[in-house]
Amino acid sequence: MNTNDVPSPVRILVAVTASLGVAALAIRLPDIPTWERGDVFAVLLLAAGTLIAERFSIPLRHGTEIVNFALSDAVWAAGLLLVRPSVLTVAVLLGVTLGQVSQRRAPYKIAFNVGQFLVGITVAEALFGVLGGGSITDSWTWTLAFVAMGGCFVVNASSIVLVVSLMEHKRFIDVLVPPLHINVLHWAGNMVLGILAAVAWSTSAAAIVLLAAPIALSFAAYRVRVASVKERNDWRRMYEAGTYLSGPLGKRPDFQPFARLLEDILQAEAVELIVVEDEQVTVHGSRHKHTFRVIEGDPSSVDTLVSVRVGSTPTPQIALIGDEEQMHGVIAVYREAPLDERDSALLDNLAGQIALRLRNHRLFGETLEQARLAQIIGHTADGIFTVAPDGTVASWNPAMELITGCHRDRAIGRLCEEVLGPRMAETIASLPIAPTGDAKASDSLVERPDGSLRWLRVRAQSIRDHEHAARSIVVVAHDVTAEVQAEQLKHDFVSLVSHELRTPLTPLKGFLRSLLDGIVEDAPEARQEYYRIMLRQTERLERLIGDLLDVSQIESGNLLIEPKQIELGYLVRRQVGDFERQHSDRVRFHGPGAPLLVYADAMRVEQVLSNLISNALKYSPRETAIEVSVGSADGKAVVAVQDRGPGITEAEQERIFERFYRSDTATAGRTNGVGLGLFIARNLIDAMSGELAVSSELGDGSTFAFTLPLSYATSKSGRAASERSARVKAATA
Ligand code: ADP
Repeated sequence: MNTNDVPSPVRILVAVTASLGVAALAIRLPDIPTWERGDVFAVLLLAAGTLIAERFSIPLRHGTEIVNFALSDAVWAAGLLLVRPSVLTVAVLLGVTLGQVSQRRAPYKIAFNVGQFLVGITVAEALFGVLGGGSITDSWTWTLAFVAMGGCFVVNASSIVLVVSLMEHKRFIDVLVPPLHINVLHWAGNMVLGILAAVAWSTSAAAIVLLAAPIALSFAAYRVRVASVKERNDWRRMYEAGTYLSGPLGKRPDFQPFARLLEDILQAEAVELIVVEDEQVTVHGSRHKHTFRVIEGDPSSVDTLVSVRVGSTPTPQIALIGDEEQMHGVIAVYREAPLDERDSALLDNLAGQIALRLRNHRLFGETLEQARLAQIIGHTADGIFTVAPDGTVASWNPAMELITGCHRDRAIGRLCEEVLGPRMAETIASLPIAPTGDAKASDSLVERPDGSLRWLRVRAQSIRDHEHAARSIVVVAHDVTAEVQAEQLKHDFVSLVSHELRTPLTPLKGFLRSLLDGIVEDAPEARQEYYRIMLRQTERLERLIGDLLDVSQIESGNLLIEPKQIELGYLVRRQVGDFERQHSDRVRFHGPGAPLLVYADAMRVEQVLSNLISNALKYSPRETAIEVSVGSADGKAVVAVQDRGPGITEAEQERIFERFYRSDTATAGRTNGVGLGLFIARNLIDAMSGELAVSSELGDGSTFAFTLPLSYATSKSGRAASERSARVKAATA
């Protein structure tokens, strides 16, 4: 750990401990000049003993701090019984400092350890002095040394517990209690060894060799004990790591706590997991997390990554997360000692688990996204399909089936051109492919299996799947047939209506000018003829304007119908009579045997009939007759207008009732008309609860027939019509 990362309470504690250590040393300084050769020898011997004990210490990790099991205090217990306090203090100073430096401890740790040991030994020396330790051969003196060294133990243990609790943000008692019994045992063992060594030394120095056996034994016992504690901790941490890795898949993995666990298990300065996902690199440390974007072809983004300071100390030891097929990143372990076989195996195992976890997370995400996408694509009104790099259709959504009338089973796997026709395939091929964002659209026609045409507005975007380098194209097709038709209709309407308005206006204007300029023949017959022509043209204008008004009423739903009970036979006969007067020999009437009472608007029925008869006259040769008949069938009155004209193709028989639709067959060479008459007629008959239809054979004339409800038979529908009328009136009022 960096000195910079040390929390300030710990820094204060280190400073205080170091100062107390200096003070403890200062007390002994005046005594040093009185030393004899034996004292110097004793200092060197005890310092060497301390150094060796420190070097052979067995570390046991507590989070970020390491507590060492060493035999140092056994050496000091012997020193307490054998040498002057100043000698022991200086030996502790030298031994501990050298031991810590040789283990390359951080300076603040050395300062803290040396400080607290100096204070501890000074407390022990003081206690021993106060209790009045006597001859070394006296067992009472041994007890006193034991008690005095207890003071040293209390100082050492509590200062270490304090520093660990501050570093780990744990309660003092929680750090102190769990290892207390083993620490006390260890200390007591050391004391016995130390006192034994002192007694042996004072009686026969050679006997000290005999102590080698119990020392080696206790060292081995510590090691086993520490190893078992470590193993237990490792298992617990491994279990925690495993639970963590098997957490819920939907959550994006956060490896920060995992890095902390690994630091503990591997006893490393730091552990970092560097995870690569597409262009994103995330460094998860135990206390930090950075995310970078590495963009292909942008060297500066790679520089950012290289300059990441992944750790302050040693070169990292690395384990790969993933395999050659799919690499997810690396685990970097910063630790002085190289990883042994056990640690490496453990690290590789965890790296494998992380790789699995990342792979599962990615798969889960992809599956979820695919399901969501499929739902959206399945329910959208827009057609969406993909074209593989080889030009075949790879996917086809339900909206595409509706728009084109082509089932996905017939579309998928076939060439785009075969499915959508060459025109659309060409449009798609020439579309600008947008990698992201808004793509430019293009309109084109597709033919449905029933022969009808649809206008599609298509946009294309390229997509890249994980496996293939080549890019597919995703095409979004919006059915704009209605828009295109409306646009066309608007255009047709303006040109047709302006043409139709101009046609009668031109002769009207011409005649009026001639009359004004007095350049007309003055004969009354000629004038009469002029007035007749002008009246005809004015009526034509009036009709056209009337038609336009009707269309606007139909479209706004305000068509005005005033139904009454009328006698249909009489009404039709009268109107046929009017036509007969103008076209004496062409129009013939076939009346019903008895009066036919219907519930309808007389004016509107006349309007419809007039349109049908004039169409029949207009679109059939002059020499042919028009038959108009009135009768009844299925409880309805039926009026039919039959001509011997060119007839209407089957495909057009419905279309002629659309606004502005004019058939080429019948209208060839004729410009009179805007294609509104039948549209209005059908809407009027509908509004009077009847039906208007055509039956025709090409080359064999046409029969337009409409029905109206008989007033006695269908009083219900009559009422419906009258209710509608009332509604219409209310709406227009
Ligand atoms: P317009 O007569 O002004 O064109 P209509 O709505 O009355 O408008 O008729 C629509 C079209 O239907 C005509 O343009 C014509 O092509 C066709 N049509 C109508 N009546 C007949 C008929 N009796 N015989 C053949 N075609 C007809």
